[in-house]
Amino acid sequence: MNAEIIAIGSELLTPYRLDTNSLWLTDELNKIGIRVIHKAVVGDSPGEMRSSFHHALTRADLIIASGGLGPTDDDRTRETVSELLGRKLRLEEAIVREIQERFRRFARTMPEINKRQAMVPEGATVLPNPRGTAPALWLEEDGHIIVLLPGVPHELKSIFESEVRPRLARISGDERLFTRDLRTTGLGESDVETRVRPLYQLYPDTETTILASPTGTQLHPRTWSRDASQAEKLLDEITDRMALALGEHLYSTDGEALEEVVARILNENRATVAVAESCTGGMLAERLTNVPGSSSYFLGGVICYSNDLKTTLVGVPQSLIESKGAVSSEVALALADGIRKRTGATLGVGVTGVAGPGGGTPEKPVGLVHIGLADEHGPRERAYRFPGDRERIRQFASQSALDAVRRYYLFPAAARA
Ligand code: AMP
Ligand code: MG
Repeated sequence: MNAEIIAIGSELLTPYRLDTNSLWLTDELNKIGIRVIHKAVVGDSPGEMRSSFHHALTRADLIIASGGLGPTDDDRTRETVSELLGRKLRLEEAIVREIQERFRRFARTMPEINKRQAMVPEGATVLPNPRGTAPALWLEEDGHIIVLLPGVPHELKSIFESEVRPRLARISGDERLFTRDLRTTGLGESDVETRVRPLYQLYPDTETTILASPTGTQLHPRTWSRDASQAEKLLDEITDRMALALGEHLYSTDGEALEEVVARILNENRATVAVAESCTGGMLAERLTNVPGSSSYFLGGVICYSNDLKTTLVGVPQSLIESKGAVSSEVALALADGIRKRTGATLGVGVTGVAGPGGGTPEKPVGLVHIGLADEHGPRERAYRFPGDRERIRQFASQSALDAVRRYYLFPAAARA
């Protein structure tokens, strides 16, 4: 069974609102074996809406629309779909009473315009909305199913879960989507692609999507199958081969965030970490504390943005900052070593760099970041040149600092060389 999702709402065509309903719906549909083959975002114009539904009816078994079921004049989904299908709308008194009752519960009286939400196209099944006034509608037309859902995300989710999913699950067949979430860092998207591409031909029944972000590149091998154990076996095999191709750059095969992987490694090693952050401004500490139970490995840190604080709170010699500059290998080493000594952590991490957009020089350009890592034998350091704007540079820096901790434990020989 395949599906098309139509997100309706003029606000979704502005820079201020994103259609997130279709992302959630796609995930839910995939879980019950329904593939999404097309998505559309349309404004509240009946003409555009009509053309979207018309095209969807030529290609999809199931059409799920969200939005435009409200009480106001710009909510026209009900009318437009009824007209397209040539069905009359009639007022259903039972729904009017439910809406009135809902208003009464909140000590209000129903405005007359809300009656529109009780208009039902001929032959439609009304799906009650426990979270709002607009009920959803289920229509069948020439072997196609059309489901009209309210746009408010929590209402859409609750109606989908209680009314739509059970109905679809009964008719969607037993094919399911199986997928893995491999995560890498330290390699560009094209490097990742080059390494895994030869595998694509070997597994023609698997489609792999590649997602690049400032924190790394993700690979999602996906396969549709009626046989769960066979699909899992196939994905295990592909994952193993991809892992081989990606080597040390792969940090997770099940969608774990890097901070979760680092948390696990630190706990396994009964180790603690403390951070001294300059250009990341606390981002590293924020990520380390995102993981529940972080107090077992994270002691704390200092956001030493000014040179003075680098000296007074972390013990970086003032002379070192003056002679080498705040963004330097030497200061990264001193930050890592200083925070480790002051906190008694197993590992100290120091980050200093030029996040930009200003402040770059030919010797120390925007994107230059030094990351220091100290253990009981002393600190070591690595310099990076990250591309992008301030936000991306800071994300790259926090990711690389976390990765330095991961590599310290997983590849001790290389990390300690
Ligand atoms: P509507 O049902 O068209 O009155 O939509 C009500 C509200 O739900 C809108 O103001 C949006 O904030 C939100 N909304 C509508 N469509 C979507 C969508 N596709 N994704 C996320 N939010 C939405
Ligand atoms: Mg709307």
